[in-house]
Amino acid sequence: MLTTEKREFWFVVGSQHLYGEEALAEVKAHAQTITDALNESGILPYPLVLQDLAVSADKITSIMKEVNYRNEVAGVITWMHTFSPAKMWIRGTKLLQKPLLHLATQFNESIPWATIDMDFMNLNQSAHGDREYGFINARLKKQNKVVVGYWERPEVRQQIAQWMDVAVAYNESFNIKVARFGDNMRNVGVTEGDKVEAQIQFGWTVDYFGIGDLVQYVNAVTDEEIDALFAEYEGLYEFDYGTYSREDWEKSVKVQVSYEIAIKRFLDDGGYTAFTTNFEDLYGMKQLPGLAVQRLMAQGYGFAGEGDWKTAALDRLLKVMSHNQSTGFMEDYTYELAAGQESILQSHMLEVDPSLASNKPKIVVSPLGIGDREDPARLVFDGKAGDGVVVSMADFGTNYKLLINEVSAFEPTVPAPNLPVARVLWEVKPNFQDGVKAWLENGGGHHTVVSLNLTTDQIITYAKLVGLEYVVIK
Ligand code: MN
Repeated sequence: MLTTEKREFWFVVGSQHLYGEEALAEVKAHAQTITDALNESGILPYPLVLQDLAVSADKITSIMKEVNYRNEVAGVITWMHTFSPAKMWIRGTKLLQKPLLHLATQFNESIPWATIDMDFMNLNQSAHGDREYGFINARLKKQNKVVVGYWERPEVRQQIAQWMDVAVAYNESFNIKVARFGDNMRNVGVTEGDKVEAQIQFGWTVDYFGIGDLVQYVNAVTDEEIDALFAEYEGLYEFDYGTYSREDWEKSVKVQVSYEIAIKRFLDDGGYTAFTTNFEDLYGMKQLPGLAVQRLMAQGYGFAGEGDWKTAALDRLLKVMSHNQSTGFMEDYTYELAAGQESILQSHMLEVDPSLASNKPKIVVSPLGIGDREDPARLVFDGKAGDGVVVSMADFGTNYKLLINEVSAFEPTVPAPNLPVARVLWEVKPNFQDGVKAWLENGGGHHTVVSLNLTTDQIITYAKLVGLEYVVIK
């Protein structure tokens, strides 16, 4: 279960006093109708709350200040019912520190040719108001989203819903706290980065802990707690004993059960929502956390291996954005290069996110060639099919850069009986050669976050909100 704060969005409708009180009453009634319809559509993931009409600079400024101040308000949606002079919007728009969506719609769908007169034109002039308002947002470089179309259309509502998810993730970005158990893997380049800059630009807090701090938590877990959680696994996963006796297998799995309890307790005690481990830094641990990490990913915690805190934070961010649907940490492993079948096998040494599973995962115990520890348990499954995005965040010394590649995942058809880890397969866009080439030329990492739930447009919307350079490969 993914836990985040309660959120809502404010709906601010622009007009002015020029048209008289009767006209403004009608504007307000129309705004209420649209608000109710959007809330009742079942498409928006968060409630929309109608505010007083934006008819003066003072009113607009006071609404925007209130938006900034209230934690539960994740962003603002504006609609220009009539002409709302844009100089009134300058102060409030400049002060607004949360995401802004300009909904370019109109109360009536069609022009009523038989009855239209100047009264109607004055009351219903969104086309006029949109341009005045759009000019000032562009001039202020507001990086606001614009959604255009009739408010009853499902595709318009869908675009609002997707933006709401980005806006909530943007707000949550400032709450992301990463606990690093150990430092980065030695000698690796792409997992390094400037933590101060990441906090300034994205709001991420990144804290180091010695592995001994976690070992203390592991040692404090009781046998009763371990047995209770192990019993929950029985309904959720297949148990695959392989070549182990049932006793040895259970003993190994229960080490991971104790890790799940300990890591979760450690994170929750410190308010952490993401974490990293490192197989080179396991002093006092019997196994590399595998199954434990996968179970925590399924609960919405961000994660990346080898001390990669950037990818762990990005994982948490995109899990919030996607409601933790089909979204997780990934690593590029092996190419399929046969003509016409070019694709990339994705996995990790243990920690593949079960939110991407197409089948019931099985718990497997198997030796791990690296890390020099006991055989760890992990969930093994095949990845599901679907179109999505794979995203990597890199530090280029002077700036962070986000790489976004559209991918098409498909379910593997050939069994791999000797592969003791979960596997995910995808084709890259626009085609294998150009997609991989662009990724490499732009310095994209081997640690990524993939989502079969989010769109390129959503990732770009976030990048613009935090002033992050991005490259799209599609
Ligand atoms: Mn890795």
